[in-house]
Amino acid sequence: MLITQLKPKETIASLVEGKVFVINCHGCKEVSFPEKEAVELQKELEAQGKLTGVITTDYICNPENMKLRLESHKQEIDAADMILVLSCGVGVQTVAEYFEDKKVCAACDTYPLPGFQGVTPLEYDCDQCGECYLNITGGICPITACSKSLVNGQCGGAKNGKCEVDSNMECGWERIYRRLAQLGRLDVLKCPTQIRNYATEEKTEA
Ligand code: SF4
Ligand code: SF4
Repeated sequence: MLITQLKPKETIASLVEGKVFVINCHGCKEVSFPEKEAVELQKELEAQGKLTGVITTDYICNPENMKLRLESHKQEIDAADMILVLSCGVGVQTVAEYFEDKKVCAACDTYPLPGFQGVTPLEYDCDQCGECYLNITGGICPITACSKSLVNGQCGGAKNGKCEVDSNMECGWERIYRRLAQLGRLDVLKCPTQIRNYATEEKTEA
């Protein structure tokens, strides 16, 4: 099981730039989604004249399925400056990879819960760290894409773009840098150090 919890209102307000298209994932049954809070958020965005459209669908972690579902919303998506995704970290990464030139933001944090973890084969990993970093890493998870799960930048050991821990994998932080450069968002790396709060993981272990 895992749970997706909407980030604080102030955090979401700070992410929103221009017009927004919202993607809600209500996919797998082992995930608890903030359905009521999502409706409230959408109403607020609509009242502010910022919402271009909403899709509530399932399994956005499946890239082929997601592409098909989004096709019928092309106009609303084109009219938006950014995509706000309410899903677990895997879903956000899948959407971010698809929209190479658009800002994609995670509206939720993902926490683990005891119990069944699901068997869906996934393209991306989320370690359910409880404090999603995808908004400052261009949609690439630093916990799973970096061998040391560093959240504040590269360790300095990469050689020719490969990780010093595992030379078969690309350095996750070099991937993050390239993605942010492509989006013209390298400025987010200048934000104050965001220290990982391990208490967010502990609170669901009891
Ligand atoms: S930063 Fe990575 S591990 Fe943490 S919630 Fe986001 S996708 Fe999951
Ligand atoms: S080389 Fe890159 S991916 Fe490997 S541990 Fe260092 S920062 Fe992380």
